[in-house]
Amino acid sequence: RRYRKTIIAGNWKMNKTPSEAKALIEEMKPLLSKTKWCEMVLCVPFTDIQAAVKAAKGSKIAIGAENMHFEKSGAFTGEISADMLKELGVKYVIVGHSERRQYFNETDENCNKKVKAAIENGLRPILCVGESLAEREQDVTMEVIRKQVKIALQGVAAEDIKKVVIAYEPIWAIGTGKTATSEQAGEVCAKIRDCLRELYGARAARAITIQYGGSMNAKNAAELLAQPDVDGGLIGGASLKSADFAAIVEAAN
Ligand code: PEP
Repeated sequence: RRYRKTIIAGNWKMNKTPSEAKALIEEMKPLLSKTKWCEMVLCVPFTDIQAAVKAAKGSKIAIGAENMHFEKSGAFTGEISADMLKELGVKYVIVGHSERRQYFNETDENCNKKVKAAIENGLRPILCVGESLAEREQDVTMEVIRKQVKIALQGVAAEDIKKVVIAYEPIWAIGTGKTATSEQAGEVCAKIRDCLRELYGARAARAITIQYGGSMNAKNAAELLAQPDVDGGLIGGASLKSADFAAIVEAAN
């Protein structure tokens, strides 16, 4: 664990207006002030970014986006580029969340372009990977995840790989209240690190933060985070409640 940072990141999804974002972050700030080791990120809707960055000033909370386009600029109606995010003070960007893969046709190839564009522009990508329930039942979890990881990281240079955060999010655990057991989470995160070791060597693999995500909450966080290869969490529902998010951060400290 001392080789890498623990990162607790919230994913607000399509929730909160700018004024609500400001209020929630102001509520969180005093609760999160005692943090020592753990880095905190809130990934918010594009429209909340300005308000969130302003509200988070003077705290250790970094602001992230939930998606971005991989092109620099151009005729891509409705899309947002890394440059645009950067100028607002964004530090992280979620890439390939399962909801984007499922509802917006996000592919591994797409994720690869986004990961590279994020790194080129000084944003840290939080790359989400994970299996569906059917895939777990067919016992192909690691084949699926290894493919997701390998394609998404294609062409990412060894000196940049530490900037990437990987979030293991079993699809069956997201927003369902069904958490992976700490053993399941720990096992897959360890195998993801094995895959990273094959791709980038032991030293690099040791330095990469691998989060678990999927119904992580104030009650189960400590046990999940106690797994040696679980270096943080990507938190959906519980990141919309200041006390719950603070309790998860506390568990990571
Ligand atoms: C997520 O959206 O990344 C997530 C893990 O959601 P939840 O915590 O609500 O399951």
